[in-house]
Parts: sequence; structure tokens; C-alpha cells
Amino acid sequence: MGFSSRALSLPEKIYRLDDSPRPAPYLVSIVIAVYNESANLRELWRRLWPVLEGCGRPYEVVFIDDGSADDSLSMLRDIAQDPGNHARVVELARNFGQHAAIMAGFRHVRGEVIVTLDADLQNPPEEIPRLLAAIDEGNDVVGGWREDRHDSRYRRYSSRLHNRVTSLVVGVPMHDYGCMLRAYRRHIVDTVAACDEKAAFVPALANSFAKRVTEIKVAHDARAGGSSKYNLLSLARLSLNLITGFSLIPIQVLSVTGIVVFILDAGFAAFLLAHRMIYGPQEEGAMWVLFAVLFFFVGLVFLALGLIGEFVGRIYLEVRKRPTYLVRAIHDDTGDHRDHSDIGGTRGDASN
Ligand code: UDP
Ligand code: MG
Repeated sequence: MGFSSRALSLPEKIYRLDDSPRPAPYLVSIVIAVYNESANLRELWRRLWPVLEGCGRPYEVVFIDDGSADDSLSMLRDIAQDPGNHARVVELARNFGQHAAIMAGFRHVRGEVIVTLDADLQNPPEEIPRLLAAIDEGNDVVGGWREDRHDSRYRRYSSRLHNRVTSLVVGVPMHDYGCMLRAYRRHIVDTVAACDEKAAFVPALANSFAKRVTEIKVAHDARAGGSSKYNLLSLARLSLNLITGFSLIPIQVLSVTGIVVFILDAGFAAFLLAHRMIYGPQEEGAMWVLFAVLFFFVGLVFLALGLIGEFVGRIYLEVRKRPTYLVRAIHDDTGDHRDHSDIGGTRGDASN
């Protein structure tokens, strides 16, 4: 299913806001990215299914097989074959990475609220009703916060730094951007899916479109089976994606460096001039003047690089086509209408 803005503007996409009493009987979609998780899938389903049945709402489960090389795909297909399970499998052609897989899942969900979850049982499925309750309170995004993490010490420290940086560049402070146990309202998921970014970081992208975001503490367990799919390199790449995906700070550091060099150099030149006037010409004076001239050009080069970078950065913002704004509903004399057709043009977001 494509997500061009044309598809979103079809009349059937405009429907009345649901104001029925809580708990709203909306369809809940569960999105699970799976990459070589055959050791965990049976147990995952054994725990997930009763939770969903107990929620008292219609549900669907969308598994994304991210190019698994083990038995994961056939196990998922077995689950999906039983109509009582309300499960589907989106099979990707190869391994594209967790966030790409989630994006693929977002394009195949039908639910009004979407919950993402890891397949390795580090995120207990039993927490899903609490996420849904937080959505019912009117939040657009509910993040899980793994206060008591069962990961290596080095993972915990690096992720603390990661969360600080992410909170800063996204502008929405959160304790735990890395936790995939999260719930989103449909309009957020549609917008994230419409972005089609190559280096997307789903929780950060979602937060940048949400009005009400909250965080609830969730339990976290050690991996049930198999091993983590992330190593030091892939984690570093994820962090770098995030910084370059949400800010132009690396480019702006260049311009600022240029300006700082200029200011220091001006001070240095003033000092040389004063020295010359007070003490007269010095034997090694020419050398210092040469330094002052050199630093003038160094500052100029940094500034020029920063300026070029600023233009490149703006081109980047434009080509990324993140919406500038997002209309959630239209209110008129016939009532309230949800309108997904107006996803803020396709201009780059000037604020990021
Ligand atoms: N995953 C994926 N594609 C990948 C890597 C991971 O779909 O290329 C899935 C994986 O199967 C799991 C989730 O993403 O369901 C989180 O992965 P993992 O548990 O290895 O990450 P960690 O918990 O170590 O951060
Ligand atoms: Mg895990």
C-alpha cells in the first residue's frame, strides 16, 4: 500500500471523530519486527495472545520478517495461518534493519492505535493494556521507559547519553528513546510512514509530529533467547543518523568555529598593533603578523565551509520532505471530521 499524499486525500480517508465512551472499541495493531528470533517466537505468541484477547478490543498483529535466515518466517506463517490469531506477516526481501522493518509494518496496519514491540520478550506484552490506557487519556504517543534495564552496563550508559542527545535534537525530552514498547495514534503512524526516510529513527520521528507525548515506566527483561542484533558499530550508526536526521548542528559547528577564529584573530591583531605602538618594531614582529594573517584566512575558510554547509543542509531539509505541519481534524457546523488529507505540503521542516 503506497502512502502518497494523493492516496491520503481520498474521500474515504475523511471520517467522523469517534467520541464513544471509553474504553474505545478501536482496532489495535501490534507491530513486531523479527530478525532471527526463532528461539523466542513461540513464547512470544504464548504470552501475547492472551493479553490481546483480554484487552476487550479488536486487534491485529503485523509481524515483519526482516530477512530472517532461521525458521522465524515459517513460524510466523504458521501463526498467521490461523484466522483466529488475526495475524499477518510482511516478509521483507532481505534484512533492512529494525527501523526500516517497523516503517514497513506501519504501512500495513489498519488499526486506530498502533503498538510496537520487540520480538525477544525484553518488552513484556503484559504491559500493552497500560499503554492503551495512556492513549485513552488523550496522548498521541506513549513511550515505554525501561527504568530497570536488563542489558549490559555499557549498553545502559551509552543509552543514557543517547537519550540526552535525542531529547535535545528532537526537542521532546524523554528518558528512553530506545525502548520499542510504544503506542501511537493512527495519524502519527501515517505521517511517519509518509516520510519514507532512509535513515529513520521511528520514536524520534513520531515525537516530532505529536502534540501530547507521555512516558510510562515499563518492565524490562533480559533477552529470552538468541542474541542482540546490535553491536557497537550499528549503535554508533543509529546515533549518528539521529543527530544528522534531526539537526544541522554538525554543519553549524563549522560556521561557529570560523567566527570564533575570527574573533580570536582580531584580538590577536589588536594586541600586535598595541605592542608595536608601545614598544616599537620588534625583530620577530613580521612572523607574528604572518600568523595573524594566516588565522584570518583559516577563519575565512571555516566560515565559507559553514556557509556552503548551510546551503547543503537546507537542500537536505527540502529533499527529506518532512511535513511542515499536520492537520488533525476540521471542525465546522456539521461536526468534527478527521482529515488526513492535509499533511503539511511536502516541504522540508524549517524547524529541524
Ligand atoms: N530486529 C530487526 N532487524 C534487525 C535487527 C533487529 O527486525 O536488523 C528486531 C529484532 O528481531 C528484535 C528487535 O528488532 O525484535 C530489537 O532487536 P534486539 O533485541 O537485537 O535489540 P536490543 O534489544 O539488543 O537493542
Ligand atoms: Mg532486545
